[in-house]
Amino acid sequence: MTDRELSELAKRRGFFFGSNGVYGGTAGFYTFGPQGAALKRNLEDAWRDRFTVRQGNSEIEAPTVMPEAVFEASGHLDGFDDMLVECATCGDSHRADHLIEDATDIEEAESLPVEEIEELIREHELTCPTCGAELAGEPVEEFNLMFETTIGPGSGQAGYLRPETAQGIFVEFPRLKEYARNQLPFGVTQIGPAYRNEISPRRGIIRVREFTQAELEKFVDPERDDPPIGEVEDVKLTLYPIDEQEAEDGDYVDVTVGEAIEDGTIESAWVGYYLGVAKRWFRRIGVDLDRLRFRQHLPGERAHYAADCWDAEAELGGNWIEIAGFSTRSDYDLRKHEDHSGEAFTVFRQYDEPKTVERPTVDPDMSVLGPEFGGDAGAVAAALETLAERDPAAFEAEEVTVEIDGEEYTVDTDVANFEVETVTEAGEHVRPHVIEPSFGVGRIVYTVLEHAYREDEVDGESRTYLALEPGLAPTDVAVFPLVSNDDRLTSLATELSADLRAEGLSVTTDDSGSIGRRYRRQDEIGTPFCVTVDRDGIEGDGRDTVTLRERDTAAQIRLPIDALDEELSALSGG
Ligand code: ATP
Repeated sequence: MTDRELSELAKRRGFFFGSNGVYGGTAGFYTFGPQGAALKRNLEDAWRDRFTVRQGNSEIEAPTVMPEAVFEASGHLDGFDDMLVECATCGDSHRADHLIEDATDIEEAESLPVEEIEELIREHELTCPTCGAELAGEPVEEFNLMFETTIGPGSGQAGYLRPETAQGIFVEFPRLKEYARNQLPFGVTQIGPAYRNEISPRRGIIRVREFTQAELEKFVDPERDDPPIGEVEDVKLTLYPIDEQEAEDGDYVDVTVGEAIEDGTIESAWVGYYLGVAKRWFRRIGVDLDRLRFRQHLPGERAHYAADCWDAEAELGGNWIEIAGFSTRSDYDLRKHEDHSGEAFTVFRQYDEPKTVERPTVDPDMSVLGPEFGGDAGAVAAALETLAERDPAAFEAEEVTVEIDGEEYTVDTDVANFEVETVTEAGEHVRPHVIEPSFGVGRIVYTVLEHAYREDEVDGESRTYLALEPGLAPTDVAVFPLVSNDDRLTSLATELSADLRAEGLSVTTDDSGSIGRRYRRQDEIGTPFCVTVDRDGIEGDGRDTVTLRERDTAAQIRLPIDALDEELSALSGG
């Protein structure tokens, strides 16, 4: 199915469409219509069920606007950039790495340095997609993707719309760890909007400027890579590791989660565990597993915070598109927020037995640094004290370095007058590592729609339908009177709809057009069941009956009205 066919279906049937059409539209913003919003909500609920509830994680909801300090600390102000090339002729901007990918067989141009991108533009004589002018010689710039705003009136305080939901979790870590009673591992999830001022939004809801993320931040003990692997050990994965991507005739590696961890293809057992959990979840929501792979990020492609990263990619219209990312963020974010805020972003891990340890202590005057030392000796001493508590081993080296307000101070451990004290400690402060499964809800909506799209023939007529999983489909059941001009049938259909709604089902009714047309309309939005009330069913002297039609086979059965509810729930697997 092409992007255009899917966009047309999405628009015609109310899944999603470009926003603000009456004012000419706004590139990169989409509205989910009645069907799309229901499908998206069902997907979010399915994600919540799998990644929050069944994992014993907690969900929070943080603000979408955050002050500058957060992104200064997280590194987004400096490093959250894409490569932009501006056309001198028409003034339009384009994402330089995408131009290269579209024109050459280079797949991940994002991982290349700016100079190389400029060279490739020249070499391939690339032109502006808007006006066709030559782009050779145009400078490629790093463009920061965050939307800036002001908090409060006047010049106010600089703020940004969050580019990922994750930071809302990280900044609250000191409080969240208390709720988790300082016990590792613990996980916090969030589902909500994120904003990126994408240079070239494209492919409908796949690359937009406002989108929904579902993220889990799992805080784990850095010394214990021990997820409950047994749950997913046998799940089969199609992996595309770095080595294979770099090999000339690279191929996928089909292995189980257990094997991939065992042989080191996946470095972190926690990441392997989540790839397994995700694969099962993707199957449950109807992603075609033959069109799903996990690709390891090339070193130059990783986000500034990621130590290792695997993407779940779905094949959509002939291209592999990232729909979720699984990063090991190490202690990067917690460390940065600790350095910038001065708060402790650690948990206290109690020893089984108190321990006697040797700990360096620091002379607050740092007198031996001498008059040539240009910094604030007291502040450096305080920073060293904090470091000594957290990481006494650092003082075994010849030099230690501390950072104060962005300035680094390196102190010779021989020169500064450290003394070693013997103290008894009940436990230690540990800065957790973060494992992050991050899902783009819109891209998953798109995948589920495309992978569910089917064409076949029913009664000699061609039809299209969406084989959406029951429970995910926007509508659970449609109820029709066979004809619209029979009051008994219409009122019975209304009554039946009300009863099914009271059972918690999402029900639609429709009495316009032939029954065949009404079935087709429901097929196209993926409604798994249609119930039709006809005269035959109510004119006998036994129990009243209706027909129940199943979407994929178009087969119909007749059954008593009072058995309908049970039958529907059996068929939906619930
Ligand atoms: P890409 O390389 O496609 O720009 P990314 O690697 O920057 O994506 P992440 O930062 O890993 O994306 O974000 C996690 C998830 O959020 C992605 O897997 C994707 O599903 C979704 N996502 C990211 N950017 C967008 C966007 N502009 N529009 C829609 N979804 C997005």
